[in-house]
Amino acid sequence: MSKLIVANWKCHPSNEETAKSLFRLSDRDNVVVCPPFVYIPLGREILKKASLGAQDSFWEEGSYTGEVSASQIKSVGARFAIIGHSERRAMGESDLDIKKKVSAAIKEGLTAIVCVGEPSSIKAEGEEATNDFISLQLSAIGEFFGSEKLIIAYEPVWAIGSGNPALPADAASKASFIRSLTGNKTKVLYGGSVSAAGISEFAEREEIDGFLIGGGSVNEEELTKMFDLLEM
Ligand code: PEP
Repeated sequence: MSKLIVANWKCHPSNEETAKSLFRLSDRDNVVVCPPFVYIPLGREILKKASLGAQDSFWEEGSYTGEVSASQIKSVGARFAIIGHSERRAMGESDLDIKKKVSAAIKEGLTAIVCVGEPSSIKAEGEEATNDFISLQLSAIGEFFGSEKLIIAYEPVWAIGSGNPALPADAASKASFIRSLTGNKTKVLYGGSVSAAGISEFAEREEIDGFLIGGGSVNEEELTKMFDLLEM
């Protein structure tokens, strides 16, 4: 089964040459590249097979200095937007903000990739607490369940950038749990320290529809290995 790869370039790269090279390497079917906003037009020039996404999407247009709206994102050729990444939640983004962003993005025709996942303090409380935490995050966007324009990324916060991914069996079970709430049609990705060393084991799990990859998506050697392993 082919997997969807969403590349979250976070704050990388810091120059156009590296961005060009990463776009060329990532230009494959079933890949969504989410660069910093400024590189989206460059991606549009280079990408022929892969799609483009943004790392955030604001709910309105108007006097909100620094924000970028869903229609602006669409106007430069992006079709996806990551919304509610834990790094943005840590900067103060609320469930209500996320709901407004998802609503505006979907109305504009973008596919919203909404990140959910527990921090280590909740994980330490056990499975029930973890599931309750994820359910609460999901309930904020309940009105969009069933929409083809909604993808969920299960990203345990403790796994992001830590070099310590979830166990594939646990990620698969969380994907099933998420789908039990959102409905069977919803694509569920796993994200959190996905690397060439572990990607095949995750890929064997049919519950996991793909991956949201941060650090590994801006490391050309690592990314090449992952594409090879997934035969992409
Ligand atoms: C992310 O930024 O969403 C992420 C999963 O990062 P990493 O792959 O580096 O853990």
